[in-house]
Amino acid sequence: MRFSTALAMTATLTATTVALVPAAASAHGGAPPQIPTAGGYGGAVSTVDPTATAVGLDVLRRGGNAVDAAVAAAATLGVTEPFSAGIGGGGFFVYYDAKHRKVHTIDGRESGPATMTEDIFVDPADGLPYDFAEARVSGLSVGTPGTLATWEAATGKWGTRSLGSLLQPAAKVADRGFAVDATFRQQIADNAAPFAQFDSTRELYLPGGAPPAVGSVHRNPDLADTYRLIARRGTGVFYRGPVAADIVRTVQNPPVADDPAAPWAYPIRPGDLRLSDLANYRLRFPAPTRSDYRGLTVYGMSTPSSGGTAVGEALNILERTDLSEVSRTQALHQYLESSALSFADRNRYVGAYTPQPVLDRLISDRWARQRACQIDPAQALTKPVPPGDITASGCTPARAGGKVEDGQSTTNLTVADRWGNVVEYTLTIEQTGGNAMVVPGRGFLLNNELTDFNFTPTQGSAPDPNLPGPNKRPRSSMSPTIVLKDGRPFLALGSPGGATIITTVLQVLVNRIDLGMTLPEAMAAPRASQRNTAAVQAEPAFIAQYGPGLGGLGHTFTPVAELGAATAIEFGRGGRMIASAEPARRGGGAAGVVHPRR
Ligand code: GLU
Repeated sequence: MRFSTALAMTATLTATTVALVPAAASAHGGAPPQIPTAGGYGGAVSTVDPTATAVGLDVLRRGGNAVDAAVAAAATLGVTEPFSAGIGGGGFFVYYDAKHRKVHTIDGRESGPATMTEDIFVDPADGLPYDFAEARVSGLSVGTPGTLATWEAATGKWGTRSLGSLLQPAAKVADRGFAVDATFRQQIADNAAPFAQFDSTRELYLPGGAPPAVGSVHRNPDLADTYRLIARRGTGVFYRGPVAADIVRTVQNPPVADDPAAPWAYPIRPGDLRLSDLANYRLRFPAPTRSDYRGLTVYGMSTPSSGGTAVGEALNILERTDLSEVSRTQALHQYLESSALSFADRNRYVGAYTPQPVLDRLISDRWARQRACQIDPAQALTKPVPPGDITASGCTPARAGGKVEDGQSTTNLTVADRWGNVVEYTLTIEQTGGNAMVVPGRGFLLNNELTDFNFTPTQGSAPDPNLPGPNKRPRSSMSPTIVLKDGRPFLALGSPGGATIITTVLQVLVNRIDLGMTLPEAMAAPRASQRNTAAVQAEPAFIAQYGPGLGGLGHTFTPVAELGAATAIEFGRGGRMIASAEPARRGGGAAGVVHPRR
């Protein structure tokens, strides 16, 4: 089992933080507030970071729409949350257009090089897959970033401001700096060994050889310059010009330090991303996934994300039981079982090239019937459960398979404007710290998204839909979700957390829609994640509260400090919005509204 390092790495990301942001961090000179819940009118923003939320609200107050605010906030997260997201990565943007009452999506996922082969993560020396850490900290793991193209397309299609103007607040934050908090420091400390391998990364993040102190001011003038260069000359500098050249050079010749302070256990392998890969990068605009749930319509992200189909399938299974009528233990049992079944099917069938009829089948009510019939209200299924056989009818399971995926990187934001437009956007550079290489002179980290491919086949004798291939995009779990009621927004939400994103989004939906919780309660409630593994990963508070009851049905638990870092907005009557962020996870998020009162 060569994935142990990945698990160890993610297990360390449990630090809490303090809300400490100095005047220097604010777009308007004052320290932005960090509150997890805000109710009001005229627009709302929820992100993991007070500075990004303040920037988004500022754009809304100046008359920008949700798309403008989301892009400005995302660019700011590239500065203040650089280990989770930035222009070196990709993501999925879901947009509800109030005027046309239509949901659109942008697939800005990273794509692999044209030369990528199925065995890219198999060591030619011994025929075994690389250790995760070896694959991650390499040029092999870097896909062509889609984030900047996403911002350009979103603003061009639906925004009212130029991309250049929306990059300015973030450039200002990068120039002036912001106070290092405990999460920022911890994320560097957890990456100290890989960051120390590269001159460019250690200069930026290990000043004097150590992570910066909490409370010190972190500046990133190179990133400010990169944002301003893009603002002046357009995204061509990134995909075809000097920034493209620097990205390719970094991937092909990693900027390895001569004297890394900390040893690294692996050779640092170059990748084969080329200028032509960047020049040929294209966004996709797939139709959203759609499933009906108790009278609501749930829109999610289609492939290459598995989020939309996995959340949709689990909801369809759950819909077969009235969760508000059963005990809390039974409701949570149904939640865990539906999630395990959905994950088995996702692992077996969902990848970048899954045919549409298969995706449609997976989120059909007929399929939900075939899968729901396997759930025993009195006894947990033995995990891993086999995937269903989509060529069969009835309750027959097929073969076993599947791997445990995990992760805590990535960031999510939710924005709504006074016109009723809504953006749900999840963006990432994959692991916290991406592939650990800052592009020299440009101030941003590169992604390691290609490690989201399966390194070797996981489905036994059945085909694995998520193996690497030329120009292919790795399967994601990102699940930006917009729920409509009678054709108008009711709830928008999303989260980071690798494959736990799917269960976090599902659990918040169940908490809010079925279990009688308000949105802030649904967000704060302790979480559990059943991804078709023997034991359920769960937060300690969940185990304390529900462990005995669920244990009686045969569930076992592995404690994890926290799951997800969600953001959400709920829409009420008369234009009222409730913006909600995490009260505590990952140091707490920041929600805000344009007008607290009507
Ligand atoms: N790369 C992951 C995905 O696309 C997200 C990483 C994370 O959230 O930790 O599913």
